[in-house]
Amino acid sequence: MAVERTFSIVKPDAVAKNVIGEIYSRFERAGLRIVASKMIHLSREKAEGFYAEHKERPFFGALVDFMTSGPVMVQVLEGENAIKANREIMGATNPAEALRGTIRADYAVSVDENAAHGSDSPESAEREISYFFSSDEICPRTR
Ligand code: ADP
Ligand code: MG
Repeated sequence: MAVERTFSIVKPDAVAKNVIGEIYSRFERAGLRIVASKMIHLSREKAEGFYAEHKERPFFGALVDFMTSGPVMVQVLEGENAIKANREIMGATNPAEALRGTIRADYAVSVDENAAHGSDSPESAEREISYFFSSDEICPRTR
């Protein structure tokens, strides 16, 4: 398996809980390297564009309200099998179904406010990374 990149968000609920560092530690302990990172407060337009695939879903308005309710951390994670590895570290979308020890099991309270986002495929990873980062903001390790 080649080295992959994936896109990740620490969502507003987790930022409010002050667990950014706890979540970053989990990425690092799993061997994922943070190669880009910033804090931003999403505009409605930016959040709607990011979640465009869910536009017709009944929860879309609530999802955009939530994602714009406070700042988020956005980051690019790099490592072997990074897309799947990050989804495993995050756990299931609904924290009630997430395995023990995953980010969502430990920090999320509901499917609406579930602490983290991670790309679900190489195509989404590519789209999502370029939606938030220009190439000069991504810093591969040189040592
Ligand atoms: P994931 O974030 O695990 O990839 P989805 O892409 O299916 O999950 O959904 C995107 C986000 O929309 C979820 O993380 C969650 O915040 C929200 N969401 C998904 N399903 C529901 C639902 N049934 N009710 C409320 N919010 C939901
Ligand atoms: Mg998704």
